Amino acid sequence: TQFTDLGLAKPLLKALADEGYTQPTPIQAQAIPGVMAGRDLLGIAQTGTGKTAAFALPILHRLAEDRRPAPRRSARVLVLSPTRELATQIGESFKAYGRHLGISVAVVFGGVKYGGQMRALAGGVDVLVATPGRLLDHLQEKSMTLEGVETFVLDEADQMLDMGFIVPIRRIVKFLPKRRQNLFFSATMPAEIEALTGEILNPNPLKVS
Ligand code: AMP
Repeated sequence: TQFTDLGLAKPLLKALADEGYTQPTPIQAQAIPGVMAGRDLLGIAQTGTGKTAAFALPILHRLAEDRRPAPRRSARVLVLSPTRELATQIGESFKAYGRHLGISVAVVFGGVKYGGQMRALAGGVDVLVATPGRLLDHLQEKSMTLEGVETFVLDEADQMLDMGFIVPIRRIVKFLPKRRQNLFFSATMPAEIEALTGEILNPNPLKVS
């Protein structure tokens, strides 16, 4: 399979050519068509497998096909990531793959002042990448909302568990609209993570590993 066989929007194929990518990795080839079609996904995958593009490309495709203003103080796509470094990398990937689409990306994490993050989100963004603790602070302070989120990505779920983020994640999920697409990634599936998949995902998600 080539990227050109997957039906991705032209500006995405252009960005992939800029990156020098021609062939999807196995997880990308398995995940992209189903996620483009709006299905939920359960991905058992480690870093290094190309999983970031496996979710970023079909999400960006849907944003390109269905343009609408981002909701104020909110986002159309929420990605939760366990660390500031990973969140920043994911944000950079969305910017790189989305560079010919004119989409907006914001990254929110702890350890920095709130004001800049609130200003970045004021008019709404297409894609918000956040760490759980800081996002929950913004939600509880009502400086951000999750109204209007269409797609929710939970990345590195097992690392979230190790870092004590399961309770904040459950609280964040309560702020999300009930009707949404969910993409759930974990390198391993301990019982607590298995339980969380049942709480977050719609029935019969596409499973890839
Ligand atoms: P990830 O697993 O998302 O952390 O990606 C691992 C690395 O593979 C990153 O540096 C990506 O830029 C790179 N990568 C992702 N998809 C492809 C692809 N289809 N072809 C070549 N490199 C890729």
